[in-house]
Amino acid sequence: MLNSIDFDKQHIWHPYTSAVNPLPCYEVTGAQGAELTLASGETVVDGMSSWWAAIHGYNHPELNAAAHQQIDAFSHVMFGGLTHAPAVSLCRRLLEMVPAGLQRVFLADSGSVSVEVAIKMAIQYWACQGRSEKHRIVSPRNGYHGDTFAAMSVCDPVNGMHSLFSSVLSKQIFAPAPQTRFGQTFSEDDILPLQELFEQHHHEMAALILEPIVQGAGGMRMYHPEYLRRCRQLCDTYDVLLICDEIATGFGRTGKLFACEHADISPDILCLGKALTGGYMTLAATLCTEDVAQGVCQGEPGVFMHGPTYMGNPLACAVAGASLAIIQTGAWQQQVARIERQLQATLPACLNLPAVADVRILGAIGVVETRQPVDVARIQKHFIKAGVWIRPFGKLVYIMPPYIISEAQLQQLTDAIYRALS
Ligand SMILES: *Cc1c(COP(=O)(O)O)cnc(C)c1O
Repeated sequence: MLNSIDFDKQHIWHPYTSAVNPLPCYEVTGAQGAELTLASGETVVDGMSSWWAAIHGYNHPELNAAAHQQIDAFSHVMFGGLTHAPAVSLCRRLLEMVPAGLQRVFLADSGSVSVEVAIKMAIQYWACQGRSEKHRIVSPRNGYHGDTFAAMSVCDPVNGMHSLFSSVLSKQIFAPAPQTRFGQTFSEDDILPLQELFEQHHHEMAALILEPIVQGAGGMRMYHPEYLRRCRQLCDTYDVLLICDEIATGFGRTGKLFACEHADISPDILCLGKALTGGYMTLAATLCTEDVAQGVCQGEPGVFMHGPTYMGNPLACAVAGASLAIIQTGAWQQQVARIERQLQATLPACLNLPAVADVRILGAIGVVETRQPVDVARIQKHFIKAGVWIRPFGKLVYIMPPYIISEAQLQQLTDAIYRALS
């Protein structure tokens, strides 16, 4: 019999790696607080929050209790024609937290699906008002919105490998990525290309989709809130819906509860996911304004034709409700501010290293961009030896740790990055 690692290597796909010659994989046997335990017996400090999700840390007593309680009541019932307290209570909490104007919640199974739902809503909104020519989506380059087809069509065309799928992907409209960094002085030139696209294409544009303030998997770029404010204005002026994808940025990660708040704007449609369940299971949500919901459901067909089998899964909703309750205590504000201060005190030292091109920090996100792409397998081995879990991609060595990480644990992460790049 093959051991676990060899069986895995021969039969199981992992994200973004070759099935036949995959990057090495480490087996996890436990997770507690901000640490993972590996099959080797080593523990490593988690710098990734399992891809932005595990914000409260692993094995959290309140999240565990919510899951136990719900599983003893019932794990799942269909959402068609039925509802339940976990979904209702989750959506009540969500509507208390999100930017003003969002009134309706569609529960989806994953971030990518919530983006599909958002795009579908936007297109149906215009079609139902007799404006079916407004069906294209505009998006800044360097964006990332998920791996399903409609989501892929609005990802950065280069990172998203559009050339492989050019015959099937919808042809969307791309603007240059925002250039003014967060904290710099906004340059008017930054918005001009997008403004021109709106002037030329608004008659065929259903929506603008973007990640507010932080472009995540498409390059970990942090841009000026004024860009986002201008996007809101352009959408208002030219009758285009604004979709904010806060799947990565939502729930405090950037120092605001939602990144939209940096620009003091509200979108017409909002996508949430990742940290929604505190990293316990997959659940996402697409929220929209009353106007969008009315528009989508007016005239024929009068319904929104989307309904995942596991829509509103009670277990996921119960855990998400418990996660939001923790967020509503407000402790995240001090935690994220403390992480940001510590990152600012430690990470910029990497700028002295010849291998490093840039350091960027916002909220509980720390990014070190290297001059050359890193050798992931090699650097990862180094990280494990240093007792940390950090998974770089391309030229990006970045961390977004659980909010409950201790000062010493965070120091271990930043020390490991500095040493790895030395
Ligand atoms: C991760 C991510 C998605 C996709 O979410 P999945 O749950 O992986 O499908 C979409 N948009 C953004 C901004 C993300 O970070």
